[in-house]
Order: sequence, then structure tokens, then C-alpha cells
Amino acid sequence: MGSRTRRQIAFAFGLGTVFLLTYLLIYSLVQLKNTEVPETYLQRIALLLVAFSLPLFTTWWRFKWVGVNLLTLVFLAPLVFFVVSITKVPVFLWIFLAYGSILLALHRTEQYFENQIAMAGIEQEKCEDEANNLAIAFKAKGEGISTFFEKYSTYYNLRKLAEELTVSLSWADLAQKAVDRAMDFIPRGDFAKVTLAHGEERKLPVVARRRLRPVGNWSAKQGDLFDFWCIKNRKRLIIMDTQEDFRFVLSDAEKKDNVRSLIVAPLFHEGRVAGTLAIHATRPNVFSHDDLRLLDAIATLASSAISNAMLYEKTEELAIKDSLTGLFVRRYFFERLKEEHRRALLHQKNLSFLMCDLDHFKECNDHFGHQGGDLMLVQFSEILRQCLKGSLLARYGGEEFAILLPETTKEEAAKIAEQIRKAVEKSSFNIRREAVTMTVSIGVANLPDDTLDAENLVQKADQALYRAKREGRNRVCVATS
Ligand code: GH3
Ligand code: MG
Ligand code: MG
Repeated sequence: MGSRTRRQIAFAFGLGTVFLLTYLLIYSLVQLKNTEVPETYLQRIALLLVAFSLPLFTTWWRFKWVGVNLLTLVFLAPLVFFVVSITKVPVFLWIFLAYGSILLALHRTEQYFENQIAMAGIEQEKCEDEANNLAIAFKAKGEGISTFFEKYSTYYNLRKLAEELTVSLSWADLAQKAVDRAMDFIPRGDFAKVTLAHGEERKLPVVARRRLRPVGNWSAKQGDLFDFWCIKNRKRLIIMDTQEDFRFVLSDAEKKDNVRSLIVAPLFHEGRVAGTLAIHATRPNVFSHDDLRLLDAIATLASSAISNAMLYEKTEELAIKDSLTGLFVRRYFFERLKEEHRRALLHQKNLSFLMCDLDHFKECNDHFGHQGGDLMLVQFSEILRQCLKGSLLARYGGEEFAILLPETTKEEAAKIAEQIRKAVEKSSFNIRREAVTMTVSIGVANLPDDTLDAENLVQKADQALYRAKREGRNRVCVATS
């Protein structure tokens, strides 16, 4: 029921009651005129006048519609004056005036409160508006703050990664670190890898990988078509769904890999794209452009660290390796000899040493020229590499070579020396279409059999070599203690 209907009912009720009371009042007045005991009727009339307060108060109390009651008073005014003029009892007039005053006061109070309520309503609306505005501002600020924190944490993570990347000088370690951090920062991916084309080959080996969830061919040794695309185009790549991307036609095998979305960023080394950092996922639409930007930032940091490490490795190699033969230089050989010597003494292990010298090398040099001689040196070092995988081989001097054999007895070392001698003797190759053969003399010395001193070990082998030369060359001589 609406408030309007309720007020109409109240109005009808108030008016009905007033009419009823008026009828009863007029009836009592008429009876009063004709009676001999007017007190009874006077009392009744007084009661009826008091009863008028009922509709007035109820309507005001329930519906605060004082206007109706005031109108009723106006309607009653002539009646009251009529009653007073007949009965000559002024108390009716006082009662009437008192009601009038009370209702007026109530009317004013109601008006006052209504004004107050209206003003409070306006204030409330204002406050609500302000609260809304504050809520909007708070939300915007909150979003701003969360974006700020996101940016800050990205910056912080990248800074930490940059610091981490300075710790190691091994490019393999650095590549693994880049993969690990890429996976930490972008955990939506299932598998991350680094490919690196170091060296001259046109291959793209995977040098580091990390897997969170199983992805098809995650243990592949070579980069995929996406890595090659990234290298060829020298730019980063994002694919929302490999099955929808028109740029790539996947073979059946690649479809089986189940890589649906991916991001790839190029790794630079000496100004060219040398590899890629990629994250794969088995579901489509996993990565955003923000992820790609973050991956690119990681790749840039990793690029310079890996590039530095590669240059360092190259410089180190240049410093310790002979440029002609690729074997270690004499200085590095002595460093390693010291280490191996210490280790052999500490663990009471054998350490053998071979000193090799090509026979009549000067003659070859004279015959084929210096370049021809160089070719022979290269050929000889190749034979050494094949015979002694993993041993320490060094170019000791011009055509002298030193070989360090840890944990090898004198007998074993002599056998190895003999194998080398035979291999050299058997080898044949051409210099300017002329068949060339060469022979080598080798001196063998051993720790602890011949000496316990590192320098003396070299001397002993040298003496044995000298003996081999004297005894006719192309032979192996072991040191005599
Ligand atoms: P032997 O059988 O007694 O060892 O005779 P040899 O001729 O090998 O002996 P020698 O030590 O007298 O000769 C070494 C020669 O090696 C001398 C030098 O011209 C040459 N030689 C040294 N370093 C190089 C090099 O880097 N390249 C070339 N082509 N020749 C070198
Ligand atoms: Mg020689
Ligand atoms: Mg010599």
C-alpha cells in the first residue's frame, strides 16, 4: 500500500470519526435543550469534545498530517461557538483553543523537523556523493599502486637478475640462469629454453632448458622453427595459438609437440643474433605482450652477460692455447703441471710425462718451407689429439710437444708413447702434392719412479728424449733413475 493511499484512508477515517462525533454532539445538544437534567448531557458533550482529540492525534501520530486536523478544527469552530453560546460554559472554548494551539505547535514542529529531515537528506546525499567519489578515487589509486608495485617488482627482479648474471663467467651457467629466471618471472609457461649458435656451424643447439610441466619434445637438442624465425628476422615473437598462426605451417611431428602458445626473444652476441630465449605453453593464449616485453628484457640482460662470458672464454683460450696447433702453450702447461704434481703427491698417485720432438724437422722446413713445416706441426698435433683424448697436450717449443698423463704408471706411459710413435710413423699426407712422412722421438719420465720433483720430471723426460735422438730417432726411451 502506497503512502498516498494510506493518507487517503487516514483522511477518510479522520473525517468519518469527526462526522460521527459531530452528529453525537448535535444530538446531545438537542437533548440538552429538552431535558430537565442538563448535567448528564453536559458531561456527555464534554466527553465528546475530548473524544475529538482521538482522530486528531492518531492521524498526526501515524501520518503526521496535521493539516487535516487543523481543517477539522476549522470545521468544528462554529460548532464550539454554538455550544458555548447555548451552554454558556466557557470551558468548551478553552478546550477548543487549547487543541488549536497544540495542533498549531505540532504543525510548526512537524514543519521544522521536515525541514531538518530535508536538510539532513541533502547532507546525506552530499555525503553519499563524496563517499562514491572517494571510493572511485581509492579504487583508481589502488589500481595505480598495484601497477606501481607490479612495475617495481619487475624492476627489482630484473635488477636482481642483472646482479646474478655478474657472478658467473661461464656462458653455460648464465644461459641456465636466464632460463630459470624467465620461468620464475613468467610462470604461466610450461617450458623454457635457450638456444645458442656459438662457433661457425649453422646449428642451433639448445644449451639450457627448464620444464615446469610436460611439453611434447622438451628434450629436443636443436632449436625449432620459431627460434630460426626469431634469428632470421632479428626480432621477438609471440604466438597466441600455433594452430591458428598463418606464418607457420607445422609438420605433423611439430603438431605432436603440442606447443600451442609461445614467446621468443633474440639473444645478441657481437651485433648478431646468436641465439634465442623462449617459453612454450601447451595451452593457447597463455602469454601477453607484457610477458614478451619482460622476456625481451631478460634476454637483453642475458645477452650481454653471455656475450661477455664468450669473449672472456675466447680471450682466455687465446692466452692459453697455441694459435697454430690449438694445443696449450708452455706457460699454461707449467701451471697445470704444478697442480697435477701437487695432486699426485697428495693422493700418492702416479704422474707420467712425455716429451716429444719431431725428427729432422729442420730438413722438412728447408725442403717444404716454413708453411710446409707448419702443416706438419698441425698434422702431428692432430695425431696427438686422436691418440690422447682428454690428456693435457701442450706445444712445449718449436717442434717439441709435452704430454702430461695423470694417474698413469711408467709402463702405461711407455705404451702410450709407443702408440703415438707408431701412429706418427704410419701417417702420411701431402704437402704440395708430395707425400710426406714423419717420425717422432719420445722421452718418458714418471713420478714417483724417476723423481718426486716436478721440474726434475721434465728434465728426466728431456734426457730420455735426448737418448732417443742419439740412439737413432723414431723411438721411445724411458728415463733411468
Ligand atoms: P732433430 O731430429 O735432432 O730434432 O732435428 P731437428 O731438425 O728437428 O732439430 P732442431 O731442433 O735443430 O730443429 C728445429 C727446427 O724447427 C728449427 C726451427 O727452424 C724450426 N721451427 C721452430 N719453430 C717452428 C715453427 O713454428 N714453424 C716451423 N715451420 N718451423 C719451426
Ligand atoms: Mg727435432
Ligand atoms: Mg727440437
